[in-house]
Amino acid sequence: MSEYQDLRSLYVEELKELVRELGEKPFKASQIYDWLHKKQVSDYGEMTNLSRQLREKLAGEYPLYNMEAVQVQTSKIDGTKKFLFRLRDGYVIESVWMKYQHGNSVCISSQVGCRMGCRFCASTIGGLTRNLEPAEMLGQIYQIRELTGEKISNVVVMGTGEPLDNYDALIRFIRILTDDKGFGLSQRNITVSTCGIVPMIHRLALEELSITLAISLHAPNDEKRKRLMPIANKYSIGELMDGCREYFRKTGRRLTFEYSLVGGENDSQKDADELAALLKGHNCHVNLIPVNPVKERNFVQSDKKVVEKFKNKLEKYGINVTIRREMGRDIDGACGQLRRSYLDNLKQERKK
Ligand code: SAH
Repeated sequence: MSEYQDLRSLYVEELKELVRELGEKPFKASQIYDWLHKKQVSDYGEMTNLSRQLREKLAGEYPLYNMEAVQVQTSKIDGTKKFLFRLRDGYVIESVWMKYQHGNSVCISSQVGCRMGCRFCASTIGGLTRNLEPAEMLGQIYQIRELTGEKISNVVVMGTGEPLDNYDALIRFIRILTDDKGFGLSQRNITVSTCGIVPMIHRLALEELSITLAISLHAPNDEKRKRLMPIANKYSIGELMDGCREYFRKTGRRLTFEYSLVGGENDSQKDADELAALLKGHNCHVNLIPVNPVKERNFVQSDKKVVEKFKNKLEKYGINVTIRREMGRDIDGACGQLRRSYLDNLKQERKK
């Protein structure tokens, strides 16, 4: 990436260093941090307790670019909002705001595109363009907060991208978002979803964070998993499960396993038996997701009855299961589809 440095990606200690280099007193850094992360202003001009000279210096050397919402779709069914944000280099990312009884949730992207290649996923179709910076992950939340005017109590890193493929930025993002001196979200209210980059799960276990880790499992054995997710060729389910056990041992946090049900692929009663055997002894929760049809892919959703049967079977084994409620069914449904349809339209426009 370019030399551009967004001050919102820095820890307060780093900001102190930077402010000192500008010949200012270090306590100015705390004030700047407070404006950026607690008050979430988008312009140095609003930082009224800084001298005009410092504000101008910051604006000159570290301009604040605020991502712009180029499209917002609101579901008539449940109020879910999908945002398409344009980044400073013109790329677009997608974020979702969902209203739940227990509080509002925001689903953010961690990369522009994705290189994991999961067969049923729309986000990976064009490959990976670039990683998001911590400031751009925070920006999605700050902007949605501003645009909706509503409180945000949960954040899920389940949008486009593989968060553990952008590890350093992810950790910074979490620490800054949960800093009491900033936005101050509780770590317990953050969920990070991964396709299962095992070495990074081991690393994450050592960060002393109390976030929830969700694993995109989607299959009960290696053979089936390889058909759906290329990452399964790199790490076996056995290695993945060892990583999960380690994560629980180190953090005490119960894991979530995501299982997208694909008609005829992974939704049989035998698959449920095998899955139950695999999860035996894990302190976990299973989230079943009826696969969202993606127009570029030919997977079909499992029958409603099949989903229920799958759930019942797991419950018989004493496993904690939920079926993910489909939010915003009437707006570009599956993950990454709003961005894809935007990019498709752009391509069509260019051809004209
Ligand atoms: N890269 C991360 C987060 C991205 S997606 C991960 O793999 O976990 C969040 C979840 O949605 C993942 O479980 C992903 O496998 C699932 N998903 C992606 N496309 C889907 C689709 N079309 N239908 C159902 N689930 C899908």
